[in-house]
Amino acid sequence: MHDAPDAKARPLIEIVGVSKCFGTLKVLNSVSLSVARSEVVCIVGPSGSGKSTLLRCINFLEPYDDGEIYIGGERVGYAVDARGRRRPAKESSVERLRRDVAMVFQQFNLWPHMRVIDNVAQPLMLVHKKSSEEARAIARRMLDKVGLSDKLDQYPLRLSGGQQQRVGIARALAVDPKVILFDEPTSSLDPELVGEVLQVMKQLAREGMTMIIVTHEMHFAAEVADRVVFLDHGSKLEEGPPRDVFFNPKHERTRQFLQTWIERNSLFAEPLDATARRNAGT
Ligand code: ADP
Ligand code: MG
Repeated sequence: MHDAPDAKARPLIEIVGVSKCFGTLKVLNSVSLSVARSEVVCIVGPSGSGKSTLLRCINFLEPYDDGEIYIGGERVGYAVDARGRRRPAKESSVERLRRDVAMVFQQFNLWPHMRVIDNVAQPLMLVHKKSSEEARAIARRMLDKVGLSDKLDQYPLRLSGGQQQRVGIARALAVDPKVILFDEPTSSLDPELVGEVLQVMKQLAREGMTMIIVTHEMHFAAEVADRVVFLDHGSKLEEGPPRDVFFNPKHERTRQFLQTWIERNSLFAEPLDATARRNAGT
Protein backbone atom coordinates (compact mmCIF):
# COMPACT_ATOMS: atom_id res chain seq x y z
CA MET A 1 0.00 0.00 0.00
CA HIS A 2 1.27 3.47 -0.77
CA ASP A 3 0.81 5.69 2.21
CA ALA A 4 -1.26 8.80 1.71
CA PRO A 5 0.93 11.96 1.57
CA ASP A 6 0.44 12.97 5.20
CA ALA A 7 0.67 9.37 6.40
CA LYS A 8 4.05 9.67 8.09
CA ALA A 9 2.75 12.26 10.51
CA ARG A 10 -0.23 10.11 11.50
CA PRO A 11 -0.47 6.96 13.57
CA LEU A 12 -0.15 3.82 11.46
CA ILE A 13 -3.61 2.69 12.53
CA GLU A 14 -6.43 5.02 13.48
CA ILE A 15 -9.77 3.67 14.65
CA VAL A 16 -12.26 6.46 15.16
CA GLY A 17 -15.64 5.90 16.80
CA VAL A 18 -16.23 2.47 15.29
CA SER A 19 -19.54 0.81 16.05
CA LYS A 20 -20.89 -2.51 14.91
CA CYS A 21 -24.08 -4.48 15.50
CA PHE A 22 -24.91 -8.09 14.80
CA GLY A 23 -28.68 -7.79 14.44
CA THR A 24 -29.85 -6.07 17.60
CA LEU A 25 -26.67 -6.87 19.51
CA LYS A 26 -24.26 -3.92 19.71
CA VAL A 27 -20.84 -5.56 19.62
CA LEU A 28 -18.65 -2.45 19.26
CA ASN A 29 -19.72 0.82 20.80
CA SER A 30 -17.89 3.80 19.35
CA VAL A 31 -14.41 2.40 19.87
CA SER A 32 -11.44 4.66 19.12
CA LEU A 33 -7.81 3.60 19.18
CA SER A 34 -4.60 4.80 17.56
CA VAL A 35 -1.51 2.68 17.11
CA ALA A 36 1.83 4.16 16.09
CA ARG A 37 4.51 2.37 14.13
CA SER A 38 6.42 -0.14 16.27
CA GLU A 39 3.87 0.03 19.05
CA VAL A 40 2.59 -3.09 20.78
CA VAL A 41 -1.01 -2.81 21.96
CA CYS A 42 -2.61 -5.63 23.93
CA ILE A 43 -6.39 -5.88 24.03
CA VAL A 44 -7.83 -7.69 27.02
CA GLY A 45 -11.38 -8.26 28.19
CA PRO A 46 -13.99 -10.88 28.93
CA SER A 47 -15.20 -13.36 26.35
CA GLY A 48 -17.80 -11.80 24.06
CA SER A 49 -16.62 -8.23 24.65
CA GLY A 50 -15.89 -7.64 20.95
CA LYS A 51 -12.12 -8.17 20.83
CA SER A 52 -12.12 -10.47 17.79
CA THR A 53 -14.68 -8.33 16.01
CA LEU A 54 -12.50 -5.25 16.48
CA LEU A 55 -9.47 -7.04 15.01
CA ARG A 56 -11.56 -8.31 12.12
CA CYS A 57 -12.80 -4.80 11.36
CA ILE A 58 -9.21 -3.56 11.08
CA ASN A 59 -8.49 -5.75 8.06
CA PHE A 60 -12.10 -5.57 6.92
CA LEU A 61 -12.87 -9.23 7.37
CA GLU A 62 -15.88 -7.69 9.08
CA PRO A 63 -17.72 -4.58 7.83
CA TYR A 64 -18.50 -1.91 10.43
CA ASP A 65 -21.59 0.26 10.72
CA ASP A 66 -20.22 3.60 11.89
CA GLY A 67 -16.91 5.32 12.36
CA GLU A 68 -13.70 5.18 10.41
CA ILE A 69 -10.56 3.09 10.30
CA TYR A 70 -7.36 4.24 8.59
CA ILE A 71 -4.19 2.31 7.93
CA GLY A 72 -1.25 4.38 6.73
CA GLY A 73 -3.71 7.23 6.21
CA GLU A 74 -5.89 5.16 3.90
CA ARG A 75 -9.51 4.52 4.79
CA VAL A 76 -10.38 0.86 5.36
CA GLY A 77 -13.36 -0.65 3.59
CA TYR A 78 -15.27 2.45 2.57
CA ALA A 79 -14.94 5.50 0.41
CA VAL A 80 -16.81 8.75 0.94
CA ASP A 81 -18.45 10.43 -2.04
CA ALA A 82 -18.71 14.17 -2.75
CA ARG A 83 -21.88 14.40 -0.64
CA GLY A 84 -20.21 12.76 2.30
CA ARG A 85 -22.05 9.46 1.87
CA ARG A 86 -20.23 6.29 2.68
CA ARG A 87 -20.05 3.52 0.09
CA PRO A 88 -18.05 0.29 -0.07
CA ALA A 89 -14.49 0.73 -1.28
CA LYS A 90 -13.29 -1.00 -4.42
CA GLU A 91 -12.29 -4.61 -3.96
CA SER A 92 -8.79 -3.71 -5.17
CA SER A 93 -8.36 -1.20 -2.35
CA VAL A 94 -9.41 -3.80 0.25
CA GLU A 95 -7.00 -6.32 -1.27
CA ARG A 96 -4.16 -3.81 -1.20
CA LEU A 97 -4.86 -3.02 2.40
CA ARG A 98 -4.95 -6.66 3.44
CA ARG A 99 -1.47 -7.13 2.06
CA ASP A 100 -0.23 -4.80 4.79
CA VAL A 101 -2.13 -6.43 7.62
CA ALA A 102 -1.26 -9.98 8.59
CA MET A 103 -3.26 -12.00 11.06
CA VAL A 104 -2.40 -14.84 13.42
CA PHE A 105 -5.33 -16.93 14.61
CA GLN A 106 -6.05 -18.94 17.73
CA GLN A 107 -6.57 -22.08 15.63
CA PHE A 108 -3.43 -21.54 13.48
CA ASN A 109 -5.43 -21.96 10.21
CA LEU A 110 -2.65 -23.91 8.46
CA TRP A 111 -3.31 -26.05 5.39
CA PRO A 112 -2.98 -29.64 6.64
CA HIS A 113 -2.21 -31.11 3.20
CA MET A 114 0.74 -28.78 2.61
CA ARG A 115 4.23 -29.03 4.00
CA VAL A 116 5.32 -26.35 6.45
CA ILE A 117 7.45 -24.53 3.90
CA ASP A 118 4.55 -24.40 1.43
CA ASN A 119 2.18 -23.10 4.10
CA VAL A 120 4.45 -20.08 4.35
CA ALA A 121 5.42 -19.82 0.66
CA GLN A 122 1.98 -20.25 -0.89
CA PRO A 123 0.44 -16.89 0.11
CA LEU A 124 3.54 -15.17 -1.20
CA MET A 125 2.98 -16.75 -4.59
CA LEU A 126 -0.81 -16.36 -4.68
CA VAL A 127 -1.23 -12.91 -3.17
CA HIS A 128 2.15 -11.31 -3.64
CA LYS A 129 2.95 -12.85 -7.02
CA LYS A 130 6.43 -14.01 -6.00
CA SER A 131 8.10 -16.75 -8.00
CA SER A 132 8.14 -20.16 -6.35
CA GLU A 133 11.88 -19.87 -5.84
CA GLU A 134 11.71 -16.47 -4.22
CA ALA A 135 8.72 -17.44 -2.08
CA ARG A 136 10.46 -20.53 -0.78
CA ALA A 137 13.62 -18.58 -0.01
CA ILE A 138 11.61 -16.09 2.06
CA ALA A 139 9.71 -18.95 3.72
CA ARG A 140 12.98 -20.60 4.74
CA ARG A 141 14.23 -17.35 6.24
CA MET A 142 11.04 -16.78 8.22
CA LEU A 143 10.86 -20.37 9.48
CA ASP A 144 14.47 -20.04 10.58
CA LYS A 145 13.52 -16.88 12.47
CA VAL A 146 10.83 -18.73 14.46
CA GLY A 147 13.21 -21.63 15.12
CA LEU A 148 11.72 -24.19 12.73
CA SER A 149 14.48 -24.69 10.16
CA ASP A 150 14.36 -28.41 10.81
CA LYS A 151 10.61 -28.74 10.10
CA LEU A 152 10.39 -27.36 6.55
CA ASP A 153 9.22 -30.61 5.00
CA GLN A 154 6.91 -31.76 7.77
CA TYR A 155 3.13 -31.63 7.56
CA PRO A 156 1.54 -29.34 10.17
CA LEU A 157 -0.27 -32.09 12.03
CA ARG A 158 3.05 -33.75 12.81
CA LEU A 159 4.06 -30.65 14.77
CA SER A 160 3.15 -29.64 18.31
CA GLY A 161 0.62 -26.82 18.76
CA GLY A 162 3.38 -24.41 19.69
CA GLN A 163 5.32 -25.28 16.55
CA GLN A 164 2.18 -24.94 14.43
CA GLN A 165 1.55 -21.49 15.83
CA ARG A 166 5.15 -20.53 15.09
CA VAL A 167 4.49 -21.56 11.48
CA GLY A 168 1.44 -19.26 11.64
CA ILE A 169 3.68 -16.41 12.77
CA ALA A 170 6.27 -17.17 10.07
CA ARG A 171 3.48 -17.05 7.49
CA ALA A 172 2.32 -13.68 8.82
CA LEU A 173 5.86 -12.28 8.80
CA ALA A 174 6.63 -13.54 5.30
CA VAL A 175 4.38 -11.01 3.58
CA ASP A 176 6.36 -8.17 5.20
CA PRO A 177 3.26 -6.62 6.78
CA LYS A 178 3.02 -3.18 8.35
CA VAL A 179 1.13 -4.64 11.29
CA ILE A 180 0.33 -8.09 12.62
CA LEU A 181 -2.98 -8.73 14.39
CA PHE A 182 -2.93 -11.63 16.85
CA ASP A 183 -6.24 -13.10 18.04
CA GLU A 184 -5.54 -15.11 21.19
CA PRO A 185 -2.49 -16.78 19.65
CA THR A 186 -1.81 -19.01 22.65
CA SER A 187 -5.33 -19.79 23.85
CA SER A 188 -5.55 -23.22 22.25
CA LEU A 189 -2.09 -24.35 23.37
CA ASP A 190 -1.20 -26.66 26.24
CA PRO A 191 0.31 -24.51 29.01
CA GLU A 192 3.83 -25.83 28.50
CA LEU A 193 3.78 -24.70 24.84
CA VAL A 194 2.64 -21.13 25.46
CA GLY A 195 6.12 -19.86 26.34
CA GLU A 196 7.79 -20.70 23.03
CA VAL A 197 5.17 -18.72 21.11
CA LEU A 198 5.30 -15.71 23.45
CA GLN A 199 9.08 -15.79 23.14
CA VAL A 200 8.84 -15.37 19.36
CA MET A 201 6.35 -12.53 19.82
CA LYS A 202 8.63 -10.78 22.31
CA GLN A 203 11.43 -10.98 19.78
CA LEU A 204 9.20 -9.33 17.14
CA ALA A 205 8.32 -6.59 19.61
CA ARG A 206 12.02 -5.93 20.23
CA GLU A 207 12.59 -5.72 16.48
CA GLY A 208 9.95 -3.01 16.20
CA MET A 209 7.08 -4.89 14.60
CA THR A 210 3.74 -3.11 15.06
CA MET A 211 1.37 -5.53 16.75
CA ILE A 212 -2.17 -5.57 18.11
CA ILE A 213 -2.59 -8.59 20.33
CA VAL A 214 -5.77 -9.95 21.86
CA THR A 215 -4.63 -12.05 24.76
CA HIS A 216 -5.43 -13.47 28.18
CA GLU A 217 -1.72 -13.70 29.00
CA MET A 218 -1.59 -10.80 31.43
CA HIS A 219 2.06 -11.25 32.34
CA PHE A 220 2.97 -11.13 28.69
CA ALA A 221 0.87 -7.97 28.27
CA ALA A 222 2.42 -6.45 31.40
CA GLU A 223 5.87 -7.17 30.04
CA VAL A 224 5.69 -6.22 26.36
CA ALA A 225 2.71 -3.93 25.79
CA ASP A 226 3.27 -0.24 25.26
CA ARG A 227 -0.43 0.12 25.94
CA VAL A 228 -3.19 -2.11 27.24
CA VAL A 229 -6.81 -1.66 26.20
CA PHE A 230 -9.67 -3.14 28.22
CA LEU A 231 -12.85 -3.84 26.28
CA ASP A 232 -16.13 -4.68 27.98
CA HIS A 233 -19.47 -5.12 26.22
CA GLY A 234 -18.06 -3.48 23.09
CA SER A 235 -16.81 -0.36 24.87
CA LYS A 236 -13.24 0.65 25.54
CA LEU A 237 -13.21 1.19 29.29
CA GLU A 238 -9.49 1.64 29.80
CA GLU A 239 -6.41 2.44 27.81
CA GLY A 240 -2.90 3.14 28.99
CA PRO A 241 0.47 1.71 29.93
CA PRO A 242 0.17 -1.70 31.64
CA ARG A 243 1.00 -0.20 35.02
CA ASP A 244 -1.92 2.19 34.87
CA VAL A 245 -4.50 -0.20 33.48
CA PHE A 246 -3.51 -3.12 35.68
CA PHE A 247 -2.91 -1.25 38.95
CA ASN A 248 -4.84 1.91 38.73
CA PRO A 249 -7.88 1.11 36.59
CA LYS A 250 -10.54 3.76 36.30
CA HIS A 251 -13.46 1.37 36.33
CA GLU A 252 -14.65 -1.07 38.95
CA ARG A 253 -15.42 -3.46 36.08
CA THR A 254 -11.73 -3.59 35.13
CA ARG A 255 -10.76 -4.19 38.74
CA GLN A 256 -13.18 -7.14 38.94
CA PHE A 257 -11.94 -8.61 35.69
CA LEU A 258 -8.31 -8.42 36.81
CA GLN A 259 -9.07 -9.71 40.28
CA THR A 260 -10.77 -12.78 38.83
CA TRP A 261 -7.81 -13.35 36.56
CA ILE A 262 -5.32 -13.01 39.39
CA GLU A 263 -7.25 -15.42 41.57
CA ARG A 264 -7.27 -18.01 38.80
CA ASN A 265 -3.77 -17.60 37.43
CA SER A 266 -1.30 -15.86 39.64
CA LEU A 267 -0.83 -18.23 42.52
CA PHE A 268 2.71 -19.21 41.67
CA ALA A 269 3.74 -16.46 39.29
CA GLU A 270 5.53 -13.20 39.78
CA PRO A 271 3.02 -10.56 40.93
CA LEU A 272 1.68 -8.66 37.89
CA ASP A 273 2.76 -5.31 39.29
CA ALA A 274 6.38 -6.46 39.43
CA THR A 275 6.22 -7.41 35.75
CA ALA A 276 4.61 -4.13 34.75
CA ARG A 277 7.17 -2.14 36.76
CA ARG A 278 9.99 -3.89 34.95
CA ASN A 279 8.40 -2.95 31.62
CA ALA A 280 8.19 0.67 32.76
CA GLY A 281 11.87 0.49 33.80
CA THR A 282 11.20 1.41 37.41
P1 ADP B 1 -14.51 -11.73 21.92
O1 ADP B 1 -13.50 -11.95 20.85
O2 ADP B 1 -14.21 -10.59 22.82
O3 ADP B 1 -14.82 -12.98 22.69
P2 ADP B 1 -16.34 -11.41 19.69
O4 ADP B 1 -15.87 -10.20 18.97
O5 ADP B 1 -16.00 -12.72 19.11
O6 ADP B 1 -15.89 -11.31 21.23
O7 ADP B 1 -17.91 -11.36 19.83
C1 ADP B 1 -18.61 -10.27 20.40
C2 ADP B 1 -20.08 -10.58 20.39
O8 ADP B 1 -20.56 -10.64 19.05
C3 ADP B 1 -20.45 -11.90 21.04
O9 ADP B 1 -21.66 -11.73 21.73
C4 ADP B 1 -20.61 -12.82 19.87
O10 ADP B 1 -21.52 -13.85 20.17
C5 ADP B 1 -21.17 -11.89 18.80
N1 ADP B 1 -20.81 -12.30 17.43
C6 ADP B 1 -19.56 -12.43 16.95
N2 ADP B 1 -19.58 -12.77 15.64
C7 ADP B 1 -20.89 -12.84 15.29
C8 ADP B 1 -21.58 -13.12 14.06
N3 ADP B 1 -20.91 -13.38 12.93
N4 ADP B 1 -22.93 -13.08 14.08
C9 ADP B 1 -23.61 -12.78 15.20
N5 ADP B 1 -23.03 -12.50 16.39
C10 ADP B 1 -21.68 -12.52 16.44
MG1 MG C 1 -12.39 -13.62 20.36
